[in-house]
Amino acid sequence: GDGARVPALIIGTGYGGSVAALRLAQAGVDVHMVEMGMAWDTPGPDGKLFPNTRTPDHRSYWLRTRTKQPISNFLGFPLDKDVPRYTGILDAEDFGGILVYQGRGVGGGSLVNGGMAVTPKRSRFGAVLPSVDADEMYGVYYPRANAGLGVNEIDRAWFDTTDCYQYARVGRKHAQRSGFEFVYVPNVYDFDYMKREAAGTVPQSALAAEILYGNNYGKKSLQKTYLAQAKATGRVAISPLHKVTSVSPASNGGYTVVIDQLDTTGAVTATKTVTADRVFFAAGSVGTSKLLVQMKATGRLPNLNGEIGKGWGDNGNVMCGRANHLWDPTGKLQSAMPTGGIDNWDAGGAFAEVAPIPTGIETYASFYLSITNTPHRAEFTWNAAAGRVDLSWQTAWKQASIDRAKTIFDKINQKEGTIYRTDLFGASKIWGDHLTYHPLGGAVLNKATDNYGRLRGHPGLYAIDGSLIPGNTSVNPFVTITALAERNIEEIVATDL
Ligand code: FAD
Repeated sequence: GDGARVPALIIGTGYGGSVAALRLAQAGVDVHMVEMGMAWDTPGPDGKLFPNTRTPDHRSYWLRTRTKQPISNFLGFPLDKDVPRYTGILDAEDFGGILVYQGRGVGGGSLVNGGMAVTPKRSRFGAVLPSVDADEMYGVYYPRANAGLGVNEIDRAWFDTTDCYQYARVGRKHAQRSGFEFVYVPNVYDFDYMKREAAGTVPQSALAAEILYGNNYGKKSLQKTYLAQAKATGRVAISPLHKVTSVSPASNGGYTVVIDQLDTTGAVTATKTVTADRVFFAAGSVGTSKLLVQMKATGRLPNLNGEIGKGWGDNGNVMCGRANHLWDPTGKLQSAMPTGGIDNWDAGGAFAEVAPIPTGIETYASFYLSITNTPHRAEFTWNAAAGRVDLSWQTAWKQASIDRAKTIFDKINQKEGTIYRTDLFGASKIWGDHLTYHPLGGAVLNKATDNYGRLRGHPGLYAIDGSLIPGNTSVNPFVTITALAERNIEEIVATDL
C-alpha cells in the first residue's frame, strides 16, 4: 500500500521479473511485484479468460480503439476492426519507425507469445552475450531455465502424421529440398494436451487458433510456472494494473518508487509512493529502457551512465508468406504453436520459424517469421518537449533483414517454382517489415550494468530482463532472457543480500 517500505520491488512480471521473484523469495526476501497490465484471472463475457485470435475484442489490445493485427490483410482485405479501449493483453507500441508488440499483464510476454523455447546454438552464444561464460550458461542456467519454464518437445511420430502440423511438414519439405537444415523447436505449450485436443477429448486452444491474445488451455505461461512457484513461497505479492512512473534515491536510503494505479480504461485512479531497498527493472526491453532513460534525463537517477537507452535491436524480425501450388496444401487445421524452423544462420544470417496462418480455411500459404543477423542498433532518448521517450529505429533498416531472409526464400521459391504472397500486409507488400515481437537491449549487460545486471551508478538498482541483451539472440529470445536472469539473480542473492 501507499507509504509502505519493501525489501525488494520488481517492476514487471515477465520472464526476468518472475525469475527474480522466485529466487529472491526462496532466499527469504519479501518481494513486491508491480505490473501495469491486468491479472488475467477473471473470465470475460464469453466465460473465457482470453479472446480468440479470429474474434478479437476489448481484451485483445492495450488501450487501442482499433485492432492492430500483425498480419493486417488477407486476400488483400484489411482485417482490423474497432474495439473498445481497454487494458487488453497485447500492446502494439508505435515508435514511428517500428511497431513493438509486447504482452501486458501478469506473466508479461508469456501470455501472448508463441511459446517457442529455443536455446541458441552454442557456437553462436559468444556473439549474443560476449561477456558471459558460455560453459556456465550451457552447463547450468539454460538447463535450469528450460526446467523452470516447462519446456517440452513434440513427438516426432505425431508431428509426421497429425493434420495440425501439415503446414510445418510442407515447410520442412521445402526447406530440405533446397538444402536447408530444418530444426524441431521445443515449446512451452504442453504437446500432450495438444494431442488430446486433436483427439477431441479436451477443450481446444492451440487447435482453435489461440495465440497473440492469450491461450485458455495448454500453454505453460509464467502464471503456471515461475509465478505459481513464487506465490507458493508466501513471500511474493503482485499488484496488477499498477504502473511505475518514477524511481529515485530516497532520503533515508533505498529508492522512492512512484506508482500509478490504473482502471481498465487506462485512467489513473490513484498515485502511490513506496520505498524499496532494492528495485529490479523487469519491465521488458522497452519498459525498462523508457523508465531508465527518463529517470536519467530528468535528473532523478543522475548517476546512470551513458550506455542507458543504447544497444537496442529488433532481433532482426521480418515476416513473409509464400504461395504454394495447389498440390501443396498447408491444411485448414493449423496448430497456432509453431514447432519448426529453417536454420540458415551461419551461411545467410537467417533463422526462419515456420509459422501458422490459422484462418480455418485452406490458404495454400506458407508463412514465416525470420530472425536475422542485422547490424542495426537503435537508441532510446528523452523527448522533453513531448514528454516521452523516442526510439531512433528507421524502417529502412529492415532491408538488411529482408536481404538475409531472402537467402532462404528466394532459393525455395526458385526450387519450387513458387512466388511470394503479396496479400498479407497491405499495399501489395511482400515483407512484414514494420514490426518486432522481440525487442532486446537498452540497458546492455556489462555496459549500462555490471556483468550481473547491477545498474552502474546507483547501488541497489538492477536490470534483469530483455533490456540486458544487446539486440539479437539468433533465435527466439525468452529462454535466453530466463537463463540470464537465473545466472544474474544467483550472483545477486549470494553477494548483495
Ligand atoms: P516482458 O515479458 O515483456 O515483461 C515485462 C512486463 O513488465 C510486462 O508484463 C509489462 O506489462 C510490464 N511493465 C512494463 N512497463 C511497466 C511499468 N512501467 N510498470 C509496471 N509494469 C510494467 N519469444 C520466444 O522466445 N518465443 C516465442 O515464440 C515468442 N513469440 C512471441 C510472440 C509475440 C506475439 C510477442 C509479443 C512476443 C513473442 N516472443 C517470443 C518474445 C518474448 O515474449 C519476449 O522476449 C519476452 O516476453 C521478454 O521478456 P522480459 O522479461 O524482457 O519482458
